[in-house]
Amino acid sequence: MRILIAADNGVRREHFETAFKDIGREHEVKIIEVDRNMPFTPTTPSEKAIKEYVGSPKQIAREIGDADILVVNYAPVTEEVMDVDRNLKLIGVTRGGPVNVDIQAATKRGIFVVNAPERTVDAVADFTIGLMIAEARNLARAYYMLKTGKVLKINPRLFGDAVIQGIELPGKTLGVVGFGRIGRAVASRAKAFGMRILAYDPYVREDEMRSFGAEPRDLETLLKESDFVTLHVRLTKETEHMIGERELGMMKRTAYLINTSRGKVVDEKALYRALKEKRIAGAALDVVEEEPISPSNPLLELDNVTITPHIAGLTKEVPLKSALIIAEEVMKYIRGERLDRLVNRELQRPKNVGNV
Ligand code: NAD
Repeated sequence: MRILIAADNGVRREHFETAFKDIGREHEVKIIEVDRNMPFTPTTPSEKAIKEYVGSPKQIAREIGDADILVVNYAPVTEEVMDVDRNLKLIGVTRGGPVNVDIQAATKRGIFVVNAPERTVDAVADFTIGLMIAEARNLARAYYMLKTGKVLKINPRLFGDAVIQGIELPGKTLGVVGFGRIGRAVASRAKAFGMRILAYDPYVREDEMRSFGAEPRDLETLLKESDFVTLHVRLTKETEHMIGERELGMMKRTAYLINTSRGKVVDEKALYRALKEKRIAGAALDVVEEEPISPSNPLLELDNVTITPHIAGLTKEVPLKSALIIAEEVMKYIRGERLDRLVNRELQRPKNVGNV
């Protein structure tokens, strides 16, 4: 088999070299570097079918030849790329959301797409707990005050309850909205802190939620009962602005909102008002509606929010983990085994492959 791998600064050449070492002994593996100087913004209609990519489809089209398998991280895979290589059978995307690949075009051509949905689960779950504690215990705020000379030792008598007196996690209720991979990992970590877990996810069975120690609730009840609400849904038409004025109004005045999912899941203007008017206690956000965040974003003026620049999934472990996951899927494809991480599940099993 001929395998072309497009490395970038997210998953680098050395990660792929390690992950594909065994495969490379028997198959032809070529690794190229994505040209990062190429425009990020889509220009042609086929580029508009994909998003969040780095580099140019032209570069991939130039390099692909008649490869059987293409592996990418951020590199763009448009229908033009697929049409250049009529021999292409499998596209491996080392990302959780394979948004840089035109899935519809691949499915139409019978090309399997596999991804690495679990690659950032631990990273984001750890970070979510971190954000929750940062907001509840004023970690970022206290350091900011110290660093900017506002305080040398924080004293409750000088600064009042609101700023420095934190709250503890044991016994508090955590509402998990979206009980997928990350939601579950957050729930199991929060359990270890002695928290009570509620979960809302219309697509997950209640007994499955209970098996992770979570009590199923509808969204309204979850919002009303939780001390912390954490969002772990993917961004879809259904989830866009699912937390708005009305939902924020259902939360306790003492509750915190944590968002490590996607900025647009929350109506940011409504969140700003709720925070400004202290209708909720605080928020911790790794994601905002427009990224990178504008220095004039009004959220930055508030003292009851902790914001980080979309870094929840960034750990040293993630790139190699992602490359290993895709190498495993590539190996399964080569051996004709079932592909566990198939994105376009509607595809029929190909003649040369086993029980997909
Ligand atoms: P997942 O697909 O495993 O889980 C998403 C869950 O949301 C699913 O269980 C689904 O049933 C549920 N869901 C769908 N619509 C819903 C609705 N209307 N109401 C409630 N639940 C609904 O996804 P995941 O891997 O757990 O990722 C969760 C989020 O984290 C995604 O938005 C992803 O983009 C984001 N993420 C962020 C970072 C970061 O760096 N901040 C990194 C990785 C992932």
